[in-house]
Amino acid sequence: MAKVESFTLDHTKVLAPYVRSIGTEKGPQGDIISNFDLRLIQPNMCAIPTAGIHTIEHLLASLLRDRLSGVIDCSPFGCRTGFHLIMWGKPTAHDVAVALKASLEEIVSSIEWTDVQGTTAVSCGNYVDHSLFSAKEVSKHVLEKGISDDPFSRHVV
Ligand code: ZN
Repeated sequence: MAKVESFTLDHTKVLAPYVRSIGTEKGPQGDIISNFDLRLIQPNMCAIPTAGIHTIEHLLASLLRDRLSGVIDCSPFGCRTGFHLIMWGKPTAHDVAVALKASLEEIVSSIEWTDVQGTTAVSCGNYVDHSLFSAKEVSKHVLEKGISDDPFSRHVV
């Protein structure tokens, strides 16, 4: 089977919350795509409740695009401790961490339920499984700990 970088990371050595560059890939036309690990919760300590991570996903889809150019996709990890962020070009982990911090601050301070996009049976695959309350509490927890732009030593942005 193909080797996947994410599974070679020693998840017992990282210090969440952090943003980590997983790597870059170059397409046949020379375009570069970057893949980031946005780790909100310390691995194997706990996990974000599904309704909360679902609402954070819907919010980051727009809040990160408001702050970063070249966002392709931001999707939750199955382990529910964070997200993959796929982007055009080669932004730095620092730039992504700053944008993630500002996005979570907006979730905590000013986002209301009517701001969450895609919360109907037409626009979401499981629209009953959302929690803005959970999204706000998780975001508060992450901001209290601070987001590092280095996964192995605390360098909070
Ligand atoms: Zn959804």
